[in-house]
Order: sequence, then structure tokens, then C-alpha cells
Amino acid sequence: MNEPAKKKIKSVLGRMAEAVGIFARDFRSKMVVVTFHRINDWMEEDGITCHPVKFEAFCEFFRRHFRVVRVSEQIAGCRNGRAMGGTLSITFDDGYLDNFEVAAPILRRLGLPAAFFVATGFIGTDFKPPWDEHLARQPGWMSWDQVRSLRDQGFEIGAHTNEHIDLGTKDPEAIRAELARCRAKLQEALGAPPTLFAYPFGGRENISPSSLDLVREAGFECCLGAFGGVNPPVADPFRLNRISVGGWFATPHQLGLEILLRRA
Ligand SMILES: [Zn+2]
Repeated sequence: MNEPAKKKIKSVLGRMAEAVGIFARDFRSKMVVVTFHRINDWMEEDGITCHPVKFEAFCEFFRRHFRVVRVSEQIAGCRNGRAMGGTLSITFDDGYLDNFEVAAPILRRLGLPAAFFVATGFIGTDFKPPWDEHLARQPGWMSWDQVRSLRDQGFEIGAHTNEHIDLGTKDPEAIRAELARCRAKLQEALGAPPTLFAYPFGGRENISPSSLDLVREAGFECCLGAFGGVNPPVADPFRLNRISVGGWFATPHQLGLEILLRRA
């Protein structure tokens, strides 16, 4: 069976699961964090690009099935041993310009909180990361004024290193320097040190135990990976997993079915 057909079947199964109340029952036992990268309608959808209409449909789905909260509320719950099942938080990685121009207005209209994890070395530059080198037109990064504006609109800003390095392979000195640089830039731009941290790339292989210790030492209160999992209601804030949502999910119901099938 080809991919589109599989997605269609998963979407149909998701609709059925929703209709008979399985989503409602199951999601109460999971703490979910989703992450997006780019929201725009001029790029083709891919693993990190999602069209605005679809993004809005995902948001409506989140609102229908979860208590959508700030990621910091989930972290606070984790730190206090409070069960956070049934909650979902929305995050964005890297700092793409369309986060400010497209995603934030949609979130505000729907009244949903979100956190933006920025690679501080990208902000206000025209840097071309390796994964975007093939693109004829670059999607661009937010400026520091735009990052501040997001904060002023009530969104949270988190750290995502300075140069988006792979913490799973770098030596401790390089990691310490990256974390310090990223923290200093955010502190300078926003007037307060960041407490939230999301791993660049976010795969299991990018999250070494030693780098996790360094993130903790640097003063962060959490570590968010992104290898597709959901979290138990009471979770370790330094081992939170996220589901990356891009073009791969054809519909919210397909995503709902994936959440249903993941073990917390
Ligand atoms: Zn990233």
C-alpha cells in the first residue's frame, strides 16, 4: 500500500476512534508536546513545513481534545510531581520568520499559548542552514524585535543553542560555550535568562547523558527532545519527548491516531 493510502486509512481510523470516545479516554493518560518548524503556504509541505490551513486544523484538534497549556506549566507540573495527563503544549523550533508572520496570528486568534525555541545565531541573519541549502528561496529568520514581540504577545521563548549544533557529538567545552552564548544572547534580548531548552535535531542520538548534565548545569529547567513520543502524566522535565508535526501528517485525525498508538 502506498503512503497516501496508508495516511487515509489512519485518518479514517482516527475519526472512528474519536467518534466512540477512545481519544478522550486515552489522551487523559498522556502529556503531549508537539513541535512545528515552518508554517507557510508558499513552500511545499515536508517534514518541517506545514501549510497554515492545516496548522489551524491541528490547533482546533488540540483544543478539542486537550487542555492546551504553556510548556512551562507542564514543566512546573513535572517539577512538583503533579500529573499533567490530558495536557498538550505547542512548540516551534529554530526561529523561522513565518512563526512570527503566520503562526503567531493564528495562535492568537484561537487563544492558544506556544513556546518558540530559537537558535540564537540564526536570529536577525540570513544564515542558510545545511538542511535548507537546496532551497531556491530561503524562508528567512525572525529578527530580535520580532522575537521580543512574540514574548510581548504572551508567548514563551526558549533556547535551542546558538548555532544549532549536535549536542550528541560535540565535546563538553564546545557544548558549554554554545549554551552560554545562547543564554547570554537571550538574556540580553529579553532581559531575563531562558529556562526552557529544546535539543537541536532532537533525535535519541543527539541527546547524550553528558550533554543533558551540561544543559542542567547551565541553568535550564527542562530538556525537550523530538523523537516522536508522548510523555507519561508525571514525567522527568529533563527527558521530555515531542512529536514533530509537519507535512507527514495528512490530517489531525491521523496525528490523533499516532498519539493513541504511542506508549507513554
Ligand atoms: Zn532545530
